[in-house]
Amino acid sequence: MPLTSEQIERYSRQIIVPGIGGIAQERLLASRLLLAGDMRDVETVLSYLVGAGVGRIEVVCARDDVDFSEIASSMRALNADSHVTPFRDTPAAPDAVLAIAGSRSALALIAPLTTRFKRAPWVAARLDDRPCIAVLPAPPPCPRCARDVFVAAFRSRAETADAVAMAAAGEALKMLAGYGEKPGPALIEFDDYNSLSREILPDPGCDCGAKGT
Ligand SMILES: [Zn+2]
Repeated sequence: MPLTSEQIERYSRQIIVPGIGGIAQERLLASRLLLAGDMRDVETVLSYLVGAGVGRIEVVCARDDVDFSEIASSMRALNADSHVTPFRDTPAAPDAVLAIAGSRSALALIAPLTTRFKRAPWVAARLDDRPCIAVLPAPPPCPRCARDVFVAAFRSRAETADAVAMAAAGEALKMLAGYGEKPGPALIEFDDYNSLSREILPDPGCDCGAKGT
């Protein structure tokens, strides 16, 4: 759907950034993102994603006592084009999964999703002492191929945790908008504010590359 003049006005700051055109903005508005993690981390990235115009964001949160109506209404006030709801399990996979493992319970919450959505594009962040972001744009490799990110016990939360969570949200946004260079599967490891990226290879023992599983 073409952007309305009101939307062009609203997103003009993004649209004028080289490489992020109106087409990318239309893709963002039409996209559906599954966002999983602890509420504190979800809240860190949510206004950024909503402000950027991700059309639908479904949230899976470790605690189910969170008042979603309050969050949803504040996000609606920020940008009425973006709809934030609790996750609704439908046969259609989301356009991308953004998983933020900021605690042991968040890791446990994310683990089953790595199987459920093994064919979806993923961005997964781990926020403990050696924080990292796994970018998996087109499985294989899937999150289970990148199991290093998910299996180790959660240690103490990194000082840079919030910054890494935001960087992960930026990667998810790039993936949904399809702008910039087509990203390959990568593990971005952080040491303070320095980062090092290496390729993630498919695990031959993983069935994510097989058809019909
Ligand atoms: Zn796999």
